[in-house]
Order: sequence, then structure tokens, then C-alpha cells
Amino acid sequence: MADMSADRGPIPLDRIDHFPDALIGAEPGDILTIFPNPTLITIKGEAERPLWVTTLLHGNETTSFYVLRALAERYRVTPPPRSLTLFVGNVQAMAAGVRHLPEQPDFNRIWAEGSGPYHDLVHQVCETARLQIPFASIDIHNNSGSNPHYGCVNALRPADLQLAAMFADLGVFYRNPPTTQSIAFSNFCPAVTVECGRSGDQLGIDRAIGLVEDVLRLESFPAAPPAPGAVTLYHTLASVVIDPKCTFGFDDETAGLNLRADLEDFNFSDLPADTVWATTQCPQDALRVIDEHGHDLTDEFFRCDGDEIKSRRAITPAMITHDADVIRQDCLCYLMEPI
Ligand SMILES: [Zn+2]
Repeated sequence: MADMSADRGPIPLDRIDHFPDALIGAEPGDILTIFPNPTLITIKGEAERPLWVTTLLHGNETTSFYVLRALAERYRVTPPPRSLTLFVGNVQAMAAGVRHLPEQPDFNRIWAEGSGPYHDLVHQVCETARLQIPFASIDIHNNSGSNPHYGCVNALRPADLQLAAMFADLGVFYRNPPTTQSIAFSNFCPAVTVECGRSGDQLGIDRAIGLVEDVLRLESFPAAPPAPGAVTLYHTLASVVIDPKCTFGFDDETAGLNLRADLEDFNFSDLPADTVWATTQCPQDALRVIDEHGHDLTDEFFRCDGDEIKSRRAITPAMITHDADVIRQDCLCYLMEPI
């Protein structure tokens, strides 16, 4: 697809030094009346080096909006214990209730080298961050499927692992894709991406607010990594995709690939070999396993037994989704392994 964004002018980046009053009691649908453009909010706190909080990189994920609103309610008048900088990202996508608009890139895939107005926007954000030397960076997201809460890190340094452990006892380490906000920020400060369950998950919102509050109060990170067992860290081996020629459904006997209805319950659970994932009427591998280099690893992970597709070895799936668009555009799930 042609890059339409090259034709448009620069994306404005608004900069303010206070929480807008209109945030109090606001809902995601109000976003453009509060922030007509992507915005950097700098709030002066007692400790100087700021905590960076990134919000709204994906417009259909509402937890970060509610964290932003809660911080506005707490710190509109009273200064926080540490300075705060918040980036409010894809406000247009939130107004439309979508991950990103059709003519936009994914706002969490533009944080590396690149050109065009959206790359220019995040370059300005990164330059501001580098000058501020952040204490830490937290980027807040939701999953489209039912997953436990977990933090993603991009460096195995004590401070990054402490950040992940402060959020949840489950973590993911990744270096690919290399174009995310947290990879960019991990080049100059401890960074975590928190996955707070589905949009609307109140426990996820409360946990994310709790993490921000805890980091705001932290004077320094412990020099040692978290205690054993404080966070179990996984890394991604491969993703599972569905053959584009094959129809699919969950508990749908008319579909070419009939995935079991309770598949989402497998997220982050260690499954034994011979677990049935689906039944298939498709002529060839309907479920394919592809690693980050594009290599096909299907035979290592799955086998057909009659019309059943079973796992060939013990595996830990994560981020299984029922969302057909996400499955077609991205993948059904990832296969993980503890580090
Ligand atoms: Zn997201």
C-alpha cells in the first residue's frame, strides 16, 4: 500500500505544563475536545528526573486514558513526588475507537529510523525525552484477548526487571519488533510496556495506576534484579498464523479450521504435548508456526492426528485472541518459552 502519510504536512505536537481541567470525569470519546493533537504534558514534581508515561498509542485501548484521567485528578493541584511527563499519542484513533486510522501507521511501530510526518512526531518526543534523562518509562496497553496482566521489557537489566516485577509476576522479554516505544526508550532509561488485560478491565487500570504511583515514590531502583520468583520472564519463539486460504471459527463445525472454544484459557499456561487445539478439514497445514525470521516451524510444534491438530511438544501460548481481524492481520497467538 502506498504511504499516504508522505503527502501530508507535519503532525502538530502540543506541549502543555498542566493537566487540562476537561480531563476530570472525561471519557475516551471526549478525547479530541481535550487533546486535539498528540500532546506532551510535563508536570513538575518534587524529584526532578521525570517518570515518562506513554498513553494512547493504540486508539482502541482505553486503560491508558483512565490512568491519565486518574493522574489528572490526583495531581492537578498537588505536585507529584516525582516529575511526570506524559505523551498522549493517537488521539484521532481514540476518537474513532480504532487501533489506528487507515491512513495512519501503527503508533507503536514508528519508534525507530524512518521518515514521514509520524516518524518526525515521535523523533520530537524522543529528543525531548533524551534531554530530560527520564527516571523510567511506562507505556500502557491492552490485549485484544483474555490474558493475565504482564509487563514487557527489552533489556535484562535489574531496573527494567524491577519495573516489570512491580507491575505483575509475569513478564515478556522481546527485541522484535524493534520499532516500539519501549525499545526506543530502553536505549536511555529503564522501560516497561504494561499489558493490562482487555480494555475496561478495572483491575488492569488499578494496577497500572498503582505502578505509576509506586515509581513516582521510588527514590532509586535497587541495584539487584528482583528476588527469584518475583517475575517469571518468557520470550517469544514464534507466532501461530492461520492459512489465509482456510476459513476458521471457534467451536464452529462449518469452518475449515474449528478452533476449540476455550483456547484463550491457555494464555500463559504451560501446555503438555498432545493438547488438541482444533479440528481441521483443510487440505494442508491450517495452523502454521512462523518464527521472527519467517522460517516455518510448524512441524516442530504441531501434528495432525486424524482431523485433530495437536501440539507435538510442551508449549506456552500467549496473546491468543478470538478477534478475527487481529488473527488475519497479525496472528492467532505467540508461542513462548521461559528464559
Ligand atoms: Zn496496544
